[in-house]
Amino acid sequence: MSDRRDFIKKAALGTIGISALMGCGEISRKIEDESMTANVNNQKKPLIISTWNHGIPANEETWKQLKNRKPALDAIEAGLKIPEADPSIRSVGYGGFPDREGKVTLDACIMDHNSNCGSVSFLEGIMHPISVAKKVLLNTPHVMLSGQGALQFALSEGFVEENLLTEASKKDWEKWLEESKYKPVINIENHDTISMLVIDEDGNLSGGCTTSGAAWKMHGRVGDSPIIGAGLFLDNEVGAAAATGLGEAVIRTAGSAMVVELMRQGKTPFEACKEIVERIYNKHKYHKDMEYLQVGFIALNKNGEHAGYSLRSGFNYAICDEEKGNRMEDTQFKMSWDNKEK
Ligand code: ASP
Repeated sequence: MSDRRDFIKKAALGTIGISALMGCGEISRKIEDESMTANVNNQKKPLIISTWNHGIPANEETWKQLKNRKPALDAIEAGLKIPEADPSIRSVGYGGFPDREGKVTLDACIMDHNSNCGSVSFLEGIMHPISVAKKVLLNTPHVMLSGQGALQFALSEGFVEENLLTEASKKDWEKWLEESKYKPVINIENHDTISMLVIDEDGNLSGGCTTSGAAWKMHGRVGDSPIIGAGLFLDNEVGAAAATGLGEAVIRTAGSAMVVELMRQGKTPFEACKEIVERIYNKHKYHKDMEYLQVGFIALNKNGEHAGYSLRSGFNYAICDEEKGNRMEDTQFKMSWDNKEK
């Protein structure tokens, strides 16, 4: 984790490099800006929050881009591409754990302040699903493309097909096959989905998610992460929220959309995340998934207040702002893994 001075120094260097390398924003379709910017405290802009430890390098890249006045969607894409390309992160992109057939299948989505969304699910063979999701937003009349169709679209946009199953993930999959038990364990060690929420220099909200989903899932399984309203949701007048954890539980409760709705009704990000985690607990306490259930939310409101909350211990998120740089924060949680209430 960088300290502040280090971070600012690196950010400044990065800005010079990036501005030299990049042309104008690569947004190819005009997105109308209806000037939905609300009154965000100036000192809180820009602000980035991202799930888990891999949020740190992702935030750092997104920060550089935002400070360089790149469009928020480009900045989010650039940040999320870092964990996607890192084979040591076993729950996102290249090197992610495969499904039970040994196939790495990816889910991602992105959303801007005008509620434009792009999403891909069950996508194989493409290193950067977040970039394909952005292309869906920009270059199609749709929100979501899936499976073979998403792959065909990616290829038509110039993406290149690659093998995403690393030797390490293949080995783990072969080991898993010996017992073939499906039991997702969601904690800091195996990282998880990266979900990122941003307030840009103009005070507008946007966000993105990318994941290889639950390890050893059934072939064809899609989690919450590419589903707008489940894994990610934002309303530029209110706030933004994103999820990590057992996608099935998040989908059943329309998790991120509900967190945003609670903020609309006046709850703080913390209160909103907590209430939805409580709701998920109440809906699942007698469910077969309860034994290994973990869900966590992060949320950000228009004033730059943010929070995270999880069902069980072990969730954290990365925060990046001008005041304190880029750092991790552990979230509060409802219960420990041995089911003791906090
Ligand atoms: N939510 C993701 C999924 O269910 C995984 C995770 O974040 O742990 O696919």
